[in-house]
Amino acid sequence: MPGTIVMKFGGTSVADAERLRNAARRIVQKREQGQRVVAVLSARGKTTDELIAMAEEVSPAPAPRELDMLLSAGERISCALCAMAINDLGHRAISMTGSQAGIVTDTSHTKARILDVRADRIRSALEEDSIVLVAGFQGVSTARDVTTLGRGGSDTTAVAVAAALEAEVCEIYTDVAGVYSADPRIVPQARLLPVLSFEEMLEMAASGAGVLQLRSVEYARNHGVRIHCRSSFEDRPGTVVVSEIETMEHPLITAVTHSTGEARVTLLGVPDKPGVAARIFGALADADVNVDMIIQSEPAGEGSSAEVSFTVPRDDLRVSRQTLEGLAPELGISSIVTDEEMGKVSIVGAGMRSHPGVAAKVFTVLGDEEINIEMISTSPIKISCVIGGEHVPRAVRALHSAFELSGDGTEQPEEPFRPPGQ
Ligand code: ASP
Ligand code: MG
Repeated sequence: MPGTIVMKFGGTSVADAERLRNAARRIVQKREQGQRVVAVLSARGKTTDELIAMAEEVSPAPAPRELDMLLSAGERISCALCAMAINDLGHRAISMTGSQAGIVTDTSHTKARILDVRADRIRSALEEDSIVLVAGFQGVSTARDVTTLGRGGSDTTAVAVAAALEAEVCEIYTDVAGVYSADPRIVPQARLLPVLSFEEMLEMAASGAGVLQLRSVEYARNHGVRIHCRSSFEDRPGTVVVSEIETMEHPLITAVTHSTGEARVTLLGVPDKPGVAARIFGALADADVNVDMIIQSEPAGEGSSAEVSFTVPRDDLRVSRQTLEGLAPELGISSIVTDEEMGKVSIVGAGMRSHPGVAAKVFTVLGDEEINIEMISTSPIKISCVIGGEHVPRAVRALHSAFELSGDGTEQPEEPFRPPGQ
């Protein structure tokens, strides 16, 4: 619908009454500028964590279907309250659950994928001049159960709604001013990045930049939704994520990202024969474990057995172990070793596609810092190294300075930044 925008507010942006009323005011402001507005809200503050803790108090392994019923309540609370606040500002607002908003997902509870957005109810509310508040992070499955979309899933709700409505932009309002060249908590001189391509943002989200849920970026790229990340507390330009054609130039390196939530699994004495890797990683995929880097090697002199190491999010380590312990006797794997405290640093930049030597520089920088690289993986625009978790902040700072990514302290352009095409 022409003139439609989607505004998404994260948990910290609606954490208390004052912030929620502030979000309501920003929504109303857009409406008063003549836009039709759909706002997607997250659960307030730590609500989702608290709901998870509540479930764990009553059950050691809560049924996923019931967990989804519980967790979806958080976003519902935010939307109902925000609708009340908007009504008090003299505008009509209506809140909807994911299901009422027509967000249809698959049946994979707690990690559901959006299959379709049947937005007619949102559309008719917009046509009746209402502001629509959609509960983020949730939908209704093809089996008619309430589902949730995984942590951070409200971003994906917002992008999916924006795609369905052919909105002009999907604005992500958050507690940081946009996307930075590194986590500003680790690198205070990090630079705010005004424009990013979907490819860069995808690699960044996949390698630890927490600003946007990875799936939301994938969805935006696939459907051509322009994303604009910005602060909900200040009126600053933030970061626009657009397709590559629109981004003007490619710096060699755009950002350093990191994650401290990695774990490594090593399988020793893995029979070296066809089909074994397929069984191992097939079983992990069936258990919904997201495997990241994989290395297989054949220790010298041991002809028929290999060693396989891979990383998984630390939260998936328990399930990974259980799955592999079930499989080990049958496949003849001799032992399973795990390292819980692993981290990862990555550098991302579309310019590295055409420049040799970037990887060598990364290894030199880490070597000079006496940081041991445990595993390496690359894509055309990313180089990632798994390292001990305790070295992560030092590695991030060293890489950020070696590639000269710092802002000069005036990262905000003097002219108000106009996102291209707006
Ligand atoms: N409330 C959910 C979470 O904390 C979803 C979201 O905020 O995007 O993960
Ligand atoms: Mg988030």
